[in-house]
Amino acid sequence: MALKPEKPATGILIKNTWGDAKRYQVVCDCGQGDHDHDVWVEANECDVGVEIYVTAKSNFWSRTRWHHVWQLLTQGYVRCETVVSMNRQQAVNYATILKQAVEDVEKFRKAR
Ligand SMILES: [Zn+2]
Repeated sequence: MALKPEKPATGILIKNTWGDAKRYQVVCDCGQGDHDHDVWVEANECDVGVEIYVTAKSNFWSRTRWHHVWQLLTQGYVRCETVVSMNRQQAVNYATILKQAVEDVEKFRKAR
């Protein structure tokens, strides 16, 4: 059974809208706030850009902190990762809102 996008959409919160830019919070299905992603859809002079901001964490659970300090000292970086988990409905909402947001900011830019 195909899922229809919801309005309001589960898991995708609009945070701000400025006509030529929109900002959304994509929440993680697990409920942990620091897994959430911030998604910006913005029209510039010649195109529309989408930027996703995340808070990445080192995989501190798999090694000791000294391992990470050592890796930073010897290699100049620490591996980090992040995840946002979505159920089917949220994924459909996300895809639909992203497509709509790109169209909206583009329409706003062209109208100027
Ligand atoms: Zn999560």
